[in-house]
Amino acid sequence: MFDLKDLYQEVIVDHNRSPRNFHRMADANRIAEGFNPLCGDRLTLYMRVNDHGAIEDVSFEGSGCAIFTASTSLMTERLKGKTEAEAQSIFNGFHDMAVSDVDAPVDSATMGKLSALAGVREFPSRVKCATLCWHTMTAALANTGETVKTE
Ligand code: ZN
Repeated sequence: MFDLKDLYQEVIVDHNRSPRNFHRMADANRIAEGFNPLCGDRLTLYMRVNDHGAIEDVSFEGSGCAIFTASTSLMTERLKGKTEAEAQSIFNGFHDMAVSDVDAPVDSATMGKLSALAGVREFPSRVKCATLCWHTMTAALANTGETVKTE
């Protein structure tokens, strides 16, 4: 029988093993750093946003646990070509999913591959591993220059 959980597990293993867009970006115009002291996850997020507010490119460097790496990799894939407003809206949906009840339905039509991270709902301490990159994305777009900490 088709098991959604196995599929989700596969996506996380794959993105952890070979993270997408994992490199420094020389011509980034938005950069932010994030740190999750609870787990030790840390990243530098690079974005290039054009004059129309569209995200042309996203990449990252960093190290951390499998959930963090897979989540960040999936986020970079998802954000390319989106506007800043769309990026924020995807983050809102992702955050809602990550902190929802374990039995709540996942809107996989909207979330797409990001649904793979729904499993963190069962492990509240891992929610920060999954959302660190998204908080860092918000900081990068705001250009605050401050390191994002989950604590
Ligand atoms: Zn972590």
